[in-house]
Amino acid sequence: MREPFGIYIHFPFCVKKCNYCDFLSGPADSGTRKAYADALCREIYSFGREYGMRETPSRDEKIPVDTIFLGGGTPSVMDPADLTRVMETVRKVFDVLPEAEISMEMNPGTFREELLAFVKKYINRVSLGLQSADDSELRALGRIHTFSEFKKCFDALRDAGIANINVDLMSAIPGQTLASWEQSLSRILSMEPEHISCYSLIIEEGTPFYNLFEEGRLDLPGEDEEREMYYLTERLMNAHGYHRYEISNYARLGRECRHNVRYWRRSPYIGFGIGAASLLDEMRWSNTRDLQRYLSGSGSLPDIREEFQNLSVSEQMEEFMFLGLRMLEGVSCADFAEKFGCELDSVYGGVCERLISEGLLVREGDRYELTSRGIDVSNSVLAEFLLC
Ligand code: SF4
Repeated sequence: MREPFGIYIHFPFCVKKCNYCDFLSGPADSGTRKAYADALCREIYSFGREYGMRETPSRDEKIPVDTIFLGGGTPSVMDPADLTRVMETVRKVFDVLPEAEISMEMNPGTFREELLAFVKKYINRVSLGLQSADDSELRALGRIHTFSEFKKCFDALRDAGIANINVDLMSAIPGQTLASWEQSLSRILSMEPEHISCYSLIIEEGTPFYNLFEEGRLDLPGEDEEREMYYLTERLMNAHGYHRYEISNYARLGRECRHNVRYWRRSPYIGFGIGAASLLDEMRWSNTRDLQRYLSGSGSLPDIREEFQNLSVSEQMEEFMFLGLRMLEGVSCADFAEKFGCELDSVYGGVCERLISEGLLVREGDRYELTSRGIDVSNSVLAEFLLC
């Protein structure tokens, strides 16, 4: 049987842009959202045809899928009927395995009761973009919801039987203090989601925050305070039974996000929708970021795909290392040897030795893993594994 794929489906619509966001997303009317769902269906059918499937393939002909991620943007801004059409198309073309993890991102400000029937039928993991449990911080970020709206949404999902919920939180945001960060963490921990993602705010060019930052008008926590937030996060998470399995991600045991683990392990995935990236047979590509081009061309894959990259063996090795080391379990030397036909140490032995001597990397049996200090400075450590 073919190795199961993961599927990512991008929904590039939001009620309004947040002040820090440079994702491929923005507001659109309901007609555009509906047309986009139709375009997604055309792309998914075209993918099936590209893989030689007949119009109504048997289960054996279909490609097995064990993770699906509806991301954005804000998938929950879509009409449930449009989401249903897309998911039914996925089921027609792919063999969605019974144990598949099917995640959907949800902005608490877009929650409506009418979404619940769709969620119950098609989704088994919901990722809630909260960012902060403090309403003044939410306003500073330009979020469209309050903490109490988030709570209502969380409770409704639990009542609907969703037993796997992630909450996204953000540290180092304007006006935030160590005490308010601790309060955000504590409020979320008391609700016992299965998974918590904690990211630090990054000031991206082209966002309102970037302009304010350039003008010196963004009241960001200082470097020391940010560090303290970082250490507090790990302490509180551990104390409440969440383990850190990736640089920014904590989960109850067994509740790690399988779709994201797929990215870090370089397992195959197909992205549908504008800007969506794919990795298949050591080929990477992305879809056009141009909405109009996508709407008119999604039935013909060559018309919407670009940035093809046929990965060389060196590039595959680099990705194996810098994606794999993001996970706290690190990378396996045996896996490296099996995949590339040579020893990891014959390629990276010098780099690993140096990083070990600097206390940034450790060897545990067959595996190399980042140390706590290595995680603290992960960007520069991971860059050491570039070969060119
Ligand atoms: S809801 Fe998410 S994708 Fe949309 S603008 Fe805000 S941060 Fe960006």
